[in-house]
Amino acid sequence: MNNDFQFIEINRHLADKKDIQQRQTEFVEIYRPNQKQHIESQASRCLDCGNPYCEWKCPLHNYIPNWLQLISENRLMEAADLVHQTNSLPEVCGRVCPQDRLCEGACTLNDDFGAVTIGNIERYITDSAIEQGWKPDLSDVHRRPENVAIIGAGPAGLACADVLARNGITATVYDKYPEIGGLLTYGIPAFKLEKSIIQHRRKILEGMGVKFQLNTHIGVDISFDDIAHSHDAVFLGLGTYKAIAANIPNENAQGVYQALPYLIANTKKILNQSSEEYPFIDLQNQNVVVLGGGDTSMDCVRTAVRQGANKVTLLYRRDEASMPGSANEVANAKEEGVNFIFNHQPIEIQVNDGKVVGVECLQTHLEFEEGNSRPSFKMIEDSNQCIEADAVIVAFGFQPNPTDWMKQHNIEVDIQGRVVVNRHEFTYQTSNPKVFSGGDMVRGADLVVTAIDEGRKAAIGILDFLT
Ligand SMILES: Cc1cc2nc3c(=O)[nH]c(=O)nc-3n(C[C@H](O)[C@H](O)[C@H](O)COP(=O)(O)OP(=O)(O)OC[C@H]3O[C@@H](n4cnc5c(N)ncnc54)[C@H](O)[C@@H]3O)c2cc1C
Ligand code: SF4
Repeated sequence: MNNDFQFIEINRHLADKKDIQQRQTEFVEIYRPNQKQHIESQASRCLDCGNPYCEWKCPLHNYIPNWLQLISENRLMEAADLVHQTNSLPEVCGRVCPQDRLCEGACTLNDDFGAVTIGNIERYITDSAIEQGWKPDLSDVHRRPENVAIIGAGPAGLACADVLARNGITATVYDKYPEIGGLLTYGIPAFKLEKSIIQHRRKILEGMGVKFQLNTHIGVDISFDDIAHSHDAVFLGLGTYKAIAANIPNENAQGVYQALPYLIANTKKILNQSSEEYPFIDLQNQNVVVLGGGDTSMDCVRTAVRQGANKVTLLYRRDEASMPGSANEVANAKEEGVNFIFNHQPIEIQVNDGKVVGVECLQTHLEFEEGNSRPSFKMIEDSNQCIEADAVIVAFGFQPNPTDWMKQHNIEVDIQGRVVVNRHEFTYQTSNPKVFSGGDMVRGADLVVTAIDEGRKAAIGILDFLT
């Protein structure tokens, strides 16, 4: 099928999705497995345009055209090796990156012919290679005597451990949760990312010599002092977990929930890890209103659908084009029956007897200013409207939550609570020379792929520091 006009003869086509009825009830991925022939023909749509904008736009600068070429020639294991040269968790990025804003949005074919399905192909390469026994070849790596502690087994910490292991350094990853992955396991729902994916990656990392010490809360079970003294360097990838409040009347009423505890409790139930800290919230037969327009709110609406909610509505203060999440996820939510109300700002949670009965909101007007990628908005007076609700989920994002021990150990944070890095000699080094950091706790709540990028770069900083 290889020819120069493949992109005209073959349309862009993602993996097939499962039936809507099945999707609305199951906490499993919505895409059917990719067929080899389908992937090869989709990969050969790449024009090899000479100036790969996709590669520039990918935060990891993946060698996209090169691995598309390899997979179109049925050279799976070589493609998997190349994918892993720049990405520590390609099977995850292939599933959860907002590709329409990153690699695929920059593909030369995007406007007129439909972008190459880069994310789906990255996912196929990694899944298939791992299924066929792919492992990184570390036979040339010389083990080094230093040991590094990584606090936080989210994508930033795992990426840091991956690069350190490939350079002969033993990393021990500490996490307070019983499983690795951070938000990949406990935040992002299984219909976007099945939990077995992270468990496969754990085996690969363990095979590379990475050690995991889970159920270990640093600052509670072990002091940071002990960690710092018993390791040659420390990487912090603790994420951001302080929910941004709605700041409207009655936001603590019965029936109002925060997004992350809602999602974590649901995932823990699926994993049979139910805990008192995260009591399960069952929204079956309820009218649910979710406030916010990012990835988290999209995950909440789709979780509520699967729990059997009566009606699920997402309320967002700007228009659809300004939503920060992935357009694919918005489309998936719409297919699954979620009702979207754009250009409305919630101003009050309405209650009866202390229990939520609705959300009062005002219509908004957007103002587009030159130089600003997202429009600002103004509320329109007297445009009040009430949306009935039995349950409201607040999904307005997260702020950093620096710990006490950071200050005690001279780890500087900025006015927003983000760890300050890169002011000193080595990449991603904090104000404490022995401590490095990356991911959401450095850049604020962002993406999996940017957390991976920073974890990898911090590992290079650590290697330089140790050398
Ligand atoms: C609901 C939701 C959906 C999302 N969906 C997407 C998406 O579709 N695509 C996308 O690209 N991004 C998405 N994101 C964002 C993405 O998950 C994060 O940007 C990314 O996980 C950040 O990685 P991290 O390693 O910095 O932190 P985290 O993933 O938060 O990991 C931090 C880890 O540190 C551990 N930890 C914290 N403190 C301690 C301590 N004191 N001791 C021990 N362990 C500790 C935590 O238990 C956790 O495991 C989503 C986020 C949320 C909340
Ligand atoms: S890591 Fe994300 S942005 Fe980069 S190629 Fe893969 S899917 Fe695209």
